[in-house]
Amino acid sequence: MKIAVLRETAPGEKRVSASPETVRKFAALGAQVMVETGAGLQASITDADYEAAGAALGDRAATVTGAGIVLCVQGPDAATLAGVAPGTLLVGALDPLRERARVDGYAAAGLEALAMEFMPRITRAQSMDILSSQSNLAGYKAVLDAASEYGRAFPMMMTAAGTISAARLFVMGVGVAGLQAIATGRRLGAQVSATDVRAATKEQIESLGAKPVFVDAVAGIEGEGSGGYASEMSDAYQKAQAELVSAHIARQDIVITTALIPGRPAPRLVSDAQIATMRPGSVIVDLAVEQGGNVEGAVAGEIVERHGVKIVGHRNVPSRLAADAAALFSRNLYNFLSAYWDKERNAPDLPDEDEIVKGIRLTQGGQIVNERLSG
Ligand code: NAD
Repeated sequence: MKIAVLRETAPGEKRVSASPETVRKFAALGAQVMVETGAGLQASITDADYEAAGAALGDRAATVTGAGIVLCVQGPDAATLAGVAPGTLLVGALDPLRERARVDGYAAAGLEALAMEFMPRITRAQSMDILSSQSNLAGYKAVLDAASEYGRAFPMMMTAAGTISAARLFVMGVGVAGLQAIATGRRLGAQVSATDVRAATKEQIESLGAKPVFVDAVAGIEGEGSGGYASEMSDAYQKAQAELVSAHIARQDIVITTALIPGRPAPRLVSDAQIATMRPGSVIVDLAVEQGGNVEGAVAGEIVERHGVKIVGHRNVPSRLAADAAALFSRNLYNFLSAYWDKERNAPDLPDEDEIVKGIRLTQGGQIVNERLSG
């Protein structure tokens, strides 16, 4: 089995879908890996590193020719896939809900496209979950980005010249990214509080030494949807939450928002009027900016200022830590493929009825087969 590793072409994408470590591991399974020249450079992996791990190097056409599996970070366009044979597995973060036309193209080309972000949230799939591995890094980096934009220190400092008080940092949305943001903020010495719509997060916030900020008085607010994700909240809940958050936000120096609802625009959590109540020099980092944004006025790819408050909207935050993000992403892909590897066929065997396969398979035999894309 030949595995092709593409060089990413999307603007700002620095990650790569295989590392020297996973190249070695794929070779141990019996596969031959070919990496497109320069694919790892922006993640600090040289062509020589790949060669030393046993990969062949080549241009795009040579890389994809004869491959049975194509690995990518972001979903490639039709031009990139020219020369990929029907039946080939395409594995990566294919963003199927926003890149529907591309998915149609994968079906038309007869590819078997597997979208890793549709990985079910079950214990068996944890090591394959790109959303978790990448969100974790994004949560960490969001706090560092906030710290570098903030014109003050995070920890309390008692100096001969006087005392500096600790920054107050508020995390909105306590999934994987939010938990890491809390932990990172605490490590940097900030006073951290956090909120979420899922009541289960209250304990997690406390266990990290932060203060939970929760609406308790509104009925029917438990926001746990299916598979551990949030569901959309009632109007009554949203109103009560906004009021509580308004009072809290006015006293915060740093706000990190991470709230997402799969398949829907990100919920709006911070309004312009709320931003106006914050102290000038405060910083908001909106990790949901590419999904529509949690913060009014946030602009994807920009740092904007409103009422003296900086709103940071970096795109593709995991890619800002490309070396680690690529290493974890690559392991996620390896962990998935190796779990299904049939040594005798020297190829993965992906049973139709398997929960993971069913969850992530988008196209097969020229058709779109994923139920999340039907209708
Ligand atoms: P996510 O990225 O989908 O959303 C981020 C957070 O925003 C979530 O905690 C969500 O509840 C919250 N949110 C949504 N709307 C909100 C609102 N209006 N106000 C405040 N917060 C709001 O979430 P995620 O990081 O992917 O994690 C979701 C859950 O799934 C977590 O409990 C996580 O531990 C779990 N998980 C399980 C597995 C597994 O078992 N394989 C893998 C990954 C995550």
